[in-house]
Amino acid sequence: MRFGVHMQMRGGLCATLERAIGMGCRTMQIFSTNPMGWKGSVIPAADAELFKRKMAEADFGPVFTHTIYLLNLASENEALWQKSIKALAGEMQRASQIGAAGVVTHLGSCALAMEERALIIAAAIDMALDMAGEGSPFLLLENSAGSGNTAGADFAELGFIMEASRMKKRLGVCLDTCHMWGAGYSIKTDDDALNTFTAFDKAAGMGNLRLMHANDSKKELGSRKDRHENIGEGYIGEDGFASMFRINKLPGDLPLIIETPGSALADDCDNLKKLQSIYGAFSLNA
Ligand SMILES: [Zn+2]
Ligand SMILES: [Zn+2]
Repeated sequence: MRFGVHMQMRGGLCATLERAIGMGCRTMQIFSTNPMGWKGSVIPAADAELFKRKMAEADFGPVFTHTIYLLNLASENEALWQKSIKALAGEMQRASQIGAAGVVTHLGSCALAMEERALIIAAAIDMALDMAGEGSPFLLLENSAGSGNTAGADFAELGFIMEASRMKKRLGVCLDTCHMWGAGYSIKTDDDALNTFTAFDKAAGMGNLRLMHANDSKKELGSRKDRHENIGEGYIGEDGFASMFRINKLPGDLPLIIETPGSALADDCDNLKKLQSIYGAFSLNA
């Protein structure tokens, strides 16, 4: 497994990469543009080239980008839906330019039933990937905790979207442990973790799992809330992450990225070390 954190983009792409390497990351996630704005940034070609070279030299990666928070691929508001498709296409292009392996996206929300919502999202994805053109990275659908009609809390919906899309081969899943927990999927004990990942495999296919967001949760199982906690300090706890690793169901080369609440550099480092030590306890026996 490769461990990393979501890095704040400070001082540009290469400076961010250097910082991640210095922290002991082997992989990272970034926002390639301001996540609170619609106007996608333009990455200078020279920066992108240098970034790719440094990544290769350091045997660093895979790198992932995350779409902006404003986007809603399930919106019933036509203008917002179209804007979201354009933003997603732009993100796919920027990610491709910097050699990212995948783009993680939240799916959005609407009041329709899950199956109908999935069709709207699949249509948005198909349009965005057409717009972005060939050679793009994977688009990774992130599961949600399920508050306020957000899509992707049920693993089945992730499967529906991939099935409904013409772009199935370019799609994958990013599973966030905090969101899973919020949606009612436990990993607290080995039995829980086995049930959860068996359900995921059945609904969406383990082969589609290309990234995990390893986050603990400040809220109880099934709360539908998305409140990240430091690894081991929340309701999932060290025993939950230990179960997830111990049952040995995850792909062996899976990247795991921490999205620390507050995201101070020291906290990121602590979380990274904590998660690696929990994993290390089992990988030694493997
Ligand atoms: Zn996440
Ligand atoms: Zn979250």
